[in-house]
Amino acid sequence: TPASAAAAETNIQVVLRCRPINDKEANERAHAVLAIKGVRGRELAVRAAIPSDRSLTKTFTFDRVYAPEASQELVFRDVVLPIVEEVVLGYNCTIFAYGQTGTGKTHTMQGDLALSPGGQLSPHAGMIPRALYALFEIVNFDAGDATVKVSCIELYNEELRDLLAMTDDDAAKLKLYEENKVVHLQGAQERFVKSPIEVIQLLNQATEKRQVAATKMNEKSSRSHCVFTVTVRIKESTPDGVEVMKVGKLNLVDLAGSENIGRSGAENRQAREAGAINQSLLTLGRVINALVEKQGHVPYRESKLTRLLKDSLGGHTKTCIIATVSPARSNLEETLSTLDYAHRAKNI
Ligand code: ADP
Ligand code: MG
Repeated sequence: TPASAAAAETNIQVVLRCRPINDKEANERAHAVLAIKGVRGRELAVRAAIPSDRSLTKTFTFDRVYAPEASQELVFRDVVLPIVEEVVLGYNCTIFAYGQTGTGKTHTMQGDLALSPGGQLSPHAGMIPRALYALFEIVNFDAGDATVKVSCIELYNEELRDLLAMTDDDAAKLKLYEENKVVHLQGAQERFVKSPIEVIQLLNQATEKRQVAATKMNEKSSRSHCVFTVTVRIKESTPDGVEVMKVGKLNLVDLAGSENIGRSGAENRQAREAGAINQSLLTLGRVINALVEKQGHVPYRESKLTRLLKDSLGGHTKTCIIATVSPARSNLEETLSTLDYAHRAKNI
């Protein structure tokens, strides 16, 4: 079937990033339970004494495991830069940060947006600002044959909100509809940007909008997804003078906290009715599993997030999941659940 042919080409990479132990965990003397081992750091061992006094050791293998001291620069060079290079060639690609709240999703995707007086990124800048800086280095935008536009959408409770809109009314005007199997997003602000510094300004605006809403409703920040999309168009001429337009898209997604997926998944009807399970997060897992297992039916339609990203998931696309975890004993249960989810996304 065409769907399984599409799945065959789908490239999904899964890496794991462990943040440093924080002050609170250090004070609780919550010792680290994770250890990285194996050739080229691809294996993560989890060691912990479980209540029944048996010792639990489980080993998970990923495309790469990043220790707490791994820099933003290292993660960017390994994981994100090769994907930016694909986008420039005209592919649609997506990078997800997946993990429990407080494990470093926003740190990884956005990080520190402060610029030096000379306009240089901070060493703590995350993947979004780094991707944009790299893009402006790789592509020559001066000749006028290439454009970049960005959009930034928040998804909360299966409702879309435009984080680049000027007014709250405009922010709520987004519509997702399907035409000839192609999903369109109507009403989203798409800003053409001419320098990475403009992108930083837009990111700061979007972050402010997200934070204002988050303080009004405390749980919101952990339950909302933030999708930052960069579309690159490059006009090129073939040797015989035919003009072709290459269009590539990069989605950088800061997902809702993985604790919102619910322990027993879809089976827990009560939790689902109480809104305690995040439909988009749950469906994303199913879509990725369907792609990895090359199932004919991929359930894109079952959530707004997967509909929004449909043209960038499956088919000739590249996807990377950066799963984030805490090293502390006190988070062990959530960590194991993140490792399971991330591991299932990997076809090994
Ligand atoms: P999340 O978005 O997953 O809820 P955050 O990105 O807000 O988590 O991270 C929680 C805290 O941990 C922040 O103070 C952040 O700066 C810090 N942190 C997360 N990952 C790292 C890391 N790899 N190195 C240093 N600090 C980190
Ligand atoms: Mg966050």
